Amino acid sequence: MRFPSSKAQEDMYKEAKSSYFDLPALDISVAFPQATPASIFPPCASDYYQFDDLLTLEEKETRQKVRKCMEKEVAPIMAKYWEKAEFPFEVVPKLGALHIAGGTVKGYGCPGLSITASAVATAEVARVDASCSTFMLVHSSLAMLTIGICGSESQKQKYLPSLAKLNTIGCWGLTEPDNGSDASALRTTATKVNGGWVLEGQKRWIGNSTFADILIIFARNTITNQINGFIVKKDAPGLQATKIENKIGLRIVQNGDIVLKKVFVPDEDRLSGVNSFQDTNKVLAVSRVMVAWQPIGIVMGVYDMCHRYLKERKQFGAPLAAFQLNQQKLVQMLGNIQAMILVGWRLCKLYESGKMTPGHASMGKSWITLRARETVSLGRELLGGNGILTDFLVAKAFCDLEPIYTYEGTYDINTLVTGREITGISGFKPAVVRQQSRL
Ligand SMILES: Cc1cc2nc3c(=O)[nH]c(=O)nc-3n(C[C@H](O)[C@H](O)[C@H](O)COP(=O)(O)OP(=O)(O)OC[C@H]3O[C@@H](n4cnc5c(N)ncnc54)[C@H](O)[C@@H]3O)c2cc1C
Repeated sequence: MRFPSSKAQEDMYKEAKSSYFDLPALDISVAFPQATPASIFPPCASDYYQFDDLLTLEEKETRQKVRKCMEKEVAPIMAKYWEKAEFPFEVVPKLGALHIAGGTVKGYGCPGLSITASAVATAEVARVDASCSTFMLVHSSLAMLTIGICGSESQKQKYLPSLAKLNTIGCWGLTEPDNGSDASALRTTATKVNGGWVLEGQKRWIGNSTFADILIIFARNTITNQINGFIVKKDAPGLQATKIENKIGLRIVQNGDIVLKKVFVPDEDRLSGVNSFQDTNKVLAVSRVMVAWQPIGIVMGVYDMCHRYLKERKQFGAPLAAFQLNQQKLVQMLGNIQAMILVGWRLCKLYESGKMTPGHASMGKSWITLRARETVSLGRELLGGNGILTDFLVAKAFCDLEPIYTYEGTYDINTLVTGREITGISGFKPAVVRQQSRL
């Protein structure tokens, strides 16, 4: 219902609005002087069981290099970009200079890191900003890795060097509007024509796709009915990528809806190593290890923030850190982090020794994200009202974790992958669908 308002009332409202509501918000350090915001990033306090001792010199150096850059160069500006849901292009050269893009890929200007070094680098980026780490994950552990694993020699030479420097950016399009968890049933088609292929269909949620120079697109071969992979250039006629608005997490990541209308891809840009969905899974197995390290980094940052905040902020004449209930939450968070790190580290070692199975990777991703959800919500509580402000990191991390819980296989789907491996029985299709397919 609308109340009748006179002209005088409207004028009064306008005057009040211009003199009061239009004032800019106070700077957080003035409005809340008792605790330091995340733009001055807290020192790392979460390495309680001295995880560093398990790392090689190269891995430790990578960790320190990435941590320093993220704390000093990236932390001061991220809340602003998150609020505006804009991508921080100014950060790209800084991330490029770290020489971590391409991760484990050897040669072609890529760093050829151990999977553990790549994992700790992922965590250090996510500790300060989860969106930055998702940007890197899509570019490096999905787009670049697909070319590294499934590309031809000439594709590797052509694309990897500039992707490794972040001079060009990649994205990775598997998910479709009608096929999320059930990705292997995707419906985008690839039809063979003279000199190449014609792609037709739709993709959804594709990170970096609004500005990526190359798009790795998965489509169903109309002759073999199998999944094939293609490198599509951003200016290809018929290709359209539109930003998905109104996200409540990873707001900095530019996720796009992609429409492919008769997009021609020359033969030279077909990824010869993608001939079925199993080939896509080779890439997902490695990237799932990296995704598991994102929540580890997120909770490290959240813990560091809470640890500093509780010692700075006083209530009832004592620092918040002095209250037993707060200490219990802090210790619960710290315990979770130690266990998450050890599971993530063991996953890397299983991969390095060639023993990691899809079930191992899936359990790592699902269990770690579950523990991370518990940990960030404890952190959110500990900061009181400031626990819902991006200025103190925790609220941002809390929201950013939600899409990570869902992407690269939801918690449920990854659980079912492990469940199938340990029982030998697939629980993916409900009994009703299995019965129908028997009829
Ligand atoms: C921020 C963000 C970034 C992303 N980036 C990319 C990207 O770069 N590239 C890309 O290709 N994709 C990307 N995705 C897509 C992502 O991988 C999918 O969102 C994810 O696979 C889940 O699919 P869905 O959202 O369609 O959920 P649905 O598949 O519709 O699932 C909905 C719910 O049903 C449950 N469910 C589904 N099937 C089963 C089953 N068999 N048994 C039990 N439960 C089930 C799920 O666990 C979930 O809880 C991104 C998603 C997000 C949110």
